[in-house]
Amino acid sequence: MPLAPPGDLGLSAEQVLLRRTVREFARRDVAPRATALDAAQGFPEESWRQAAELGLLGATAPPEHGGAGLGLAELCIVGEELAAVCVATAATVLHQADMVVGRLARHGSEAQKERWLPGLIDGSLIGCLAMTEPEAGSDVMSMRTRAEPAGEGWRLNGTKTFITNGPVADLALVYARTGAAEARQLALFAIPTDAPGFARGRKFSKMGWRGSPTGELVLDDCEVGPEALVGGAAEGRAILFAGLDSERILLAAESVGLAQGALEAALAYARERRQFGRPIGEFQLIQGKLADMFAETEAARALTWAAAARVQAEAAGARELASAAKLLAGDVAMGVTTEAVQVLGGYGYIDEFPVERYMRDAKLMQIGGGTAEIQRTIIARALLG
Ligand SMILES: Cc1cc2nc3c(=O)[nH]c(=O)nc-3n(C[C@H](O)[C@H](O)[C@H](O)COP(=O)(O)OP(=O)(O)OC[C@H]3O[C@@H](n4cnc5c(N)ncnc54)[C@H](O)[C@@H]3O)c2cc1C
Repeated sequence: MPLAPPGDLGLSAEQVLLRRTVREFARRDVAPRATALDAAQGFPEESWRQAAELGLLGATAPPEHGGAGLGLAELCIVGEELAAVCVATAATVLHQADMVVGRLARHGSEAQKERWLPGLIDGSLIGCLAMTEPEAGSDVMSMRTRAEPAGEGWRLNGTKTFITNGPVADLALVYARTGAAEARQLALFAIPTDAPGFARGRKFSKMGWRGSPTGELVLDDCEVGPEALVGGAAEGRAILFAGLDSERILLAAESVGLAQGALEAALAYARERRQFGRPIGEFQLIQGKLADMFAETEAARALTWAAAARVQAEAAGARELASAAKLLAGDVAMGVTTEAVQVLGGYGYIDEFPVERYMRDAKLMQIGGGTAEIQRTIIARALLG
């Protein structure tokens, strides 16, 4: 018996319909491809095309640019449903929808939107967003990539690392320092990956999120025109921090999806697997695990929804609530997926069941988009004033 659709209480009719549509797509099309995608460490080509056809890549872009005009809450639904079967596909879709299309729709000029959004939304172009550098991860403001004025445009030098979709992107949104050396000033640039001086570095082999390609980008006297600057030369920092709020909400939603997927797999197994003459679901020690997994998943979902509403409303306290949601949901995803492996015993440890993949995928939820330690630091700083 399937679980009742989780989290539908309080959703609008449109949101319930969206959940049903994405769930059908996820379970019918995405799930059967997940194990092979993970093994191949490729890119989810077919699911990408289908996600574009469903309008998911442009979910939050305005209708006048070919988007669906939806909000962060709807993107959470998309992320949760896809991550419940394949977090790599969820990450690929949400990275494009929020971190690339969302950034350009919100901060780009009309000319940038006209140039880039149609292809990014119909899936013919893949985008990436590059903040992290080999020496600047948690301390992102210490990034060294620099943009100097050159003629009417800019010349960029630096290296970005751990960039989702970097190995396959057609467009890179790149943060770089501008202004005086001591100024903590950033700008965001939209750079075609065939621009002179732009190169891809290595592609990484990863523990999890293996169907979401990750790599390095190298800018070596990369020359771009003035049209590449997104927002003003001093606006990058504000764009970066505002963007982290929505990124953290979406990582929280994907974490909830991962936990949900793991719980469902554990429940199905606990009903079927017999030891000592009865289904293991009749043992109280297994029941306790399942009950805790359910309670933790629902708690993470509720906080994620509350935080998404606050971020979308740009209300006071949004940043620390986004951090709290990411922190809790990331830890819940790690805990619930680990317990799911335990419920499946030896079968949980082999790749004929999806839970070992969920467990590997969950670990990144405590690292990417700002580590668990950094989320705790943000929350504590806000609490203490
Ligand atoms: C698969 C994957 C995909 C990614 N995708 C992208 C992407 O698309 N774009 C992008 O820009 N980046 C991306 N990242 C980078 C990611 O955001 C960073 O890895 C993350 O922010 C942590 O930075 P770091 O790896 O340099 O770790 P570090 O900052 O070096 O941290 C190492 C350890 O020190 C701890 N630490 C650091 N500072 C403090 C502190 N002040 N207090 C307490 N503890 C601290 C950390 O919590 C961590 O445990 C991705 C990373 C991965 C692995």
